[in-house]
Amino acid sequence: MQTRMLINGELVKGTGEGLPVLNPASETTIDVVKEAGEDQIDAAVNGAAEAFETFSATSPSERSALLLQIADVIEQNSQELAELESLDVGKPWPSAHDDEMPLTIDVFRFFAGAARTMTGSAAGEYIAGHTSMIRRDPVGPVAAIAPWNYPLMMASWKLAAPIAAGCSVVLKPSELTPLSTLKLGELLQDVVPKGVVNIVHGRGPTVGSTLMNSPRMEAISVTGSPATGMAAMRAASSQIRHVHLELGGKAPVIVFDDADLDAVAETIRYGSYFNAGQDCAQPCRVLVADKAYDRLVAAIADQVGQIRTGAPKDEGTEMGPLVSAAQRDRVAGFVERAGSSAEIVMGGNEGSGPGYFFDPTVVANVDNASEIACDEVFGPVVTVSRFTDAEAALKIANAGSYGLASSVWTRDVGLAMRMTSRLRYGFTWVNTHGMATPEMPWAAMKGSGTGCDMSVYALDAYTSIRHVMVAH
Ligand code: NAD
Repeated sequence: MQTRMLINGELVKGTGEGLPVLNPASETTIDVVKEAGEDQIDAAVNGAAEAFETFSATSPSERSALLLQIADVIEQNSQELAELESLDVGKPWPSAHDDEMPLTIDVFRFFAGAARTMTGSAAGEYIAGHTSMIRRDPVGPVAAIAPWNYPLMMASWKLAAPIAAGCSVVLKPSELTPLSTLKLGELLQDVVPKGVVNIVHGRGPTVGSTLMNSPRMEAISVTGSPATGMAAMRAASSQIRHVHLELGGKAPVIVFDDADLDAVAETIRYGSYFNAGQDCAQPCRVLVADKAYDRLVAAIADQVGQIRTGAPKDEGTEMGPLVSAAQRDRVAGFVERAGSSAEIVMGGNEGSGPGYFFDPTVVANVDNASEIACDEVFGPVVTVSRFTDAEAALKIANAGSYGLASSVWTRDVGLAMRMTSRLRYGFTWVNTHGMATPEMPWAAMKGSGTGCDMSVYALDAYTSIRHVMVAH
């Protein structure tokens, strides 16, 4: 198994503490992977800083060609990468390959095009005798931190946009799920110029923190929990750095009584329990109009009752385990605390036998201000609660601290438009939930972050606007 890190063009074993990487479906140790030592983090940071000097001067077409090459290499090795992902995160097979690899690859192909489409204001004479022009130049070497729920896809979001912009990167995958990203490092060794992409392994408070606080990193990009986002902001505040954060979510699914309730229930089945619910856009908080409440709870229970939970490679497995014992226990805690005031319609229990399984769970009659309705559970748990009218639904949805994904379900186009214009979420789907495409931003508001991934807007995080004025 490939467990070496990519540091300044070399594949090296970590010199720090050995961290067990577990198979969440069996609780067995896949491998023990040593995290980066201090000198290795330094080497990665210095390699990225040196590579920036030349890489930032490459042309958009050169960077575009590089991104296309990266996409091709991932595509050629997609079977092995998806196998690692399934093993490491417990993702059902073949979904790990068929659902996640196409978007991962397409993100690099999209940014290959985006690299060549930078836009800005027109140059002109805003002061007589002086011509002004706007430049968008790469921001500098980027410290990038990724989570464990979609390790390779998140690595693609963290790498493709900065490369398109002309930045070098030091990327740290989650210590829980480093395997696919370490493999990617090996695949990129001969593809990417030395030092442009560096991959270091290790825990957040050790390797991640050292990386984010390095004086040679000029931007910090995090996909992860709000706590890690705050750590990034603290690190940035001590040196004044660009910060790009994609954090947690608590997506409301606002269902009016004219909606296609079967479509809502089917979307909940596939969207809320995909990846065992460990998804920042998970449709997890169903708010339903009083009149449709009973019918929707029954339809959701019917769909969720059909989900087959099991080991990733077992025939028919729709949902695998949670990533770790800690995550399973966290989810169980939320459900247990909710149990005294709400109704557990479905699930609510840990799986029997080995593996960090938790049954697909539906909690109904939830108080809109309760912990389980407002906090990110990040597991296979959906809550259902009521609202009286559109104003009340908006008030409930906008009261939360998160602002990532949301959806509105109604056949009334006017109502849908009024709702979408007033929801304070980075993205809102109408009559669907969870569809993503690289051309469109994965955008965050409020406590969910400070920018967006994917789309041309992601280039903002990795470019600085500059003004050049020529007197003549
Ligand atoms: P996490 O914040 O615990 O870990 C994310 C990464 O941050 C890991 O690599 C971890 O090692 C690192 N880290 C942790 N503490 C750190 C510190 N003090 N300094 C530096 N690095 C540190 O998050 P997670 O549990 O891996 O992922 C789940 C979270 O990610 C959820 O909140 C989820 O919603 C969010 N997420 C958001 C998006 C998005 O696009 N908005 C996508 C996926 C996941």
